[in-house]
Amino acid sequence: MKIHTIDLKFMGVDRSIAAFVVEGPTGIALIECGPHSTIQALEQGITATNYQLKDIKHVFLSHIHFDHAGAAWVFAQHGATIYVHPAGLPHLAAPEKLYNSAKMIYGDAMENLWGKMEPIDQQYLYAPQHEEIIEAVGLSFTALYTPGHAVHHIAWEVKPLTNH
Ligand SMILES: [Zn+2]
Repeated sequence: MKIHTIDLKFMGVDRSIAAFVVEGPTGIALIECGPHSTIQALEQGITATNYQLKDIKHVFLSHIHFDHAGAAWVFAQHGATIYVHPAGLPHLAAPEKLYNSAKMIYGDAMENLWGKMEPIDQQYLYAPQHEEIIEAVGLSFTALYTPGHAVHHIAWEVKPLTNH
């Protein structure tokens, strides 16, 4: 297993937002994807691992705030499954409420800061139970509910698959 940290250089600032490409024996997965406004930097970072954006079929989110999850819909449009806490899932399926409440704070700067947020079809969303294990790219991802920063927060424990 190899983890590639991708600096998304949010608003041109180094080390402000990152996403993580997890390279397993059978492909790559993403932990966090950052906002839609930094999708180009993310795609460049993915390409640097010798894979393509469309090769990503699994995106694991810690929580649904824009700086972590704003671009998830792009991956769903390429057929990826987005793993998200059950309390966060409805907001990715129908992001208008989330987007509009943020727009009240950010106003006209909204799209420049965070980009767009399109609805994600339910078939591409999956909400794991606490301690549920997802097998992907030849690795195991364990969902650990960790409320605090957000009630809908998950920490992901990534391990090699144990031999059956
Ligand atoms: Zn947050």
